[in-house]
Amino acid sequence: MAAEVGKKYVIIGNGIAGTTCAQELRKNDLACDIWLITNEPHPLYNRVSLPRYLQGLLPEQKVFIRDFAWHEQQRITLMTETLATRVDTEERVIYLDKGGPLRYDALLVATGGWANRLNVPGVDRVADIYNFVTLDDTRTLIARALESKTAVTSGGSFIAYELTEGFNMRGVHVTWLMRGPYWLRTTLDPEGGALVDSIAKAHGVDVVHGEQIAEVVAANGQPQHVVTASGKSYQADIIGVGLGLTLNHQFLADTPIERKSGIVTNAYLETNVPGVYSAGDVAEFYDEMIGTHHTMGTWDNAMAHGRLVARNMAGAREAYNDVPTYTSPLFNTNIAVMGIAESNNPALTSFSRTAPGDKGNMDYRKFFFKDSRLVGAVFIGSPKGRKKVVELIRGGAEFATTAEREALFDVR
Ligand SMILES: Cc1cc2nc3c(=O)[nH]c(=O)nc-3n(C[C@H](O)[C@H](O)[C@H](O)COP(=O)(O)OP(=O)(O)OC[C@H]3O[C@@H](n4cnc5c(N)ncnc54)[C@H](O)[C@@H]3O)c2cc1C
Repeated sequence: MAAEVGKKYVIIGNGIAGTTCAQELRKNDLACDIWLITNEPHPLYNRVSLPRYLQGLLPEQKVFIRDFAWHEQQRITLMTETLATRVDTEERVIYLDKGGPLRYDALLVATGGWANRLNVPGVDRVADIYNFVTLDDTRTLIARALESKTAVTSGGSFIAYELTEGFNMRGVHVTWLMRGPYWLRTTLDPEGGALVDSIAKAHGVDVVHGEQIAEVVAANGQPQHVVTASGKSYQADIIGVGLGLTLNHQFLADTPIERKSGIVTNAYLETNVPGVYSAGDVAEFYDEMIGTHHTMGTWDNAMAHGRLVARNMAGAREAYNDVPTYTSPLFNTNIAVMGIAESNNPALTSFSRTAPGDKGNMDYRKFFFKDSRLVGAVFIGSPKGRKKVVELIRGGAEFATTAEREALFDVR
């Protein structure tokens, strides 16, 4: 009699979403066959730790979460430096840039996003303009920062901030260019943005708004300075950019899998094609909390997706319903983003306040509502009350009146 063959799962992307899914699949099914594909050379590492590695606060080995031996113990076949190039959803086969095609019973696409490159005159005369997404990016950033005195960073979101802080902590003088009027434009407001600027300036960073790099001037393959759109010039031995991500689903172009900004899924993280699922940053999932689809670029969200999608790929039918949180240091203070904190989402209303904090600092808080339901919040400064606010979001708490909403500022 032929041996019974287990279900074959293929996962593209070994970030926290893909690796968590693989781990959960193995936990629940000792007989299944699990393949994990990544174009990167490393087993799972912690992207959230990369800023502290860049700053010199964490040694590289602490960035890794898994090693190759773990995959062997778990009988997860990890294929590194291997790019998935095409999927045939009729035949249930994926094609790779090396090695034979792989058949699957269930496929997870957890491919995250790749950094958008700076594309201006002069870039091609410089050996490196640095993005900041991978471990390998971070290694080269550190090597170059150690040889640099001046830096220009560009971008209005977390990555540009992390680059700015990383260079600053390596003793490099940073000019930080932001096209928009304030940082994190899709979450904060002018008041919150001004607070973030003041924190960076207090650490010696020159913050310049309404500007972006228009040209890079180089000598001998290294940058000398950048010229901005308005013609100003800033010295730069090193240039780091956080210009957003392009979510990785181009290799699905000739499939019927629905894609918008990300890969569209329902609340079960299933795509419109049977047997194909998506999770993590790349998934544009249906969020039951606000009754709409969106993408979410946070570690917690990707991990929770990975756990849930494994159960659904194995036959369960559980909807995703979680409150993701994003916490990050901003120099000597903290930012926490909870739930859905999107100023650019027309379905939401919000209000904010800045007040003196306990330690001579300023505390900024902003709350987001879908109708009268609390769905998200941002804290800059003291994190006190964060857990309670997450519980209120999770519980679907309603705040109908202004007085009820105002009371949220005092939750500790
Ligand atoms: C510097 C930095 C700091 C961050 N800080 C925070 C933080 O403080 N808090 C927080 O919540 N979040 C933070 N994030 C975001 C968080 O790291 C991401 O949300 C999370 O890692 C996404 O995980 P993922 O598994 O969905 O995708 P990823 O981690 O992006 O993994 C996807 C993998 O798939 C690979 N891949 C893509 N296409 C293919 C293909 N065709 N074939 C094979 N492999 C492919 C990619 O190269 C990658 O290795 C940070 C991110 C960065 C870069």
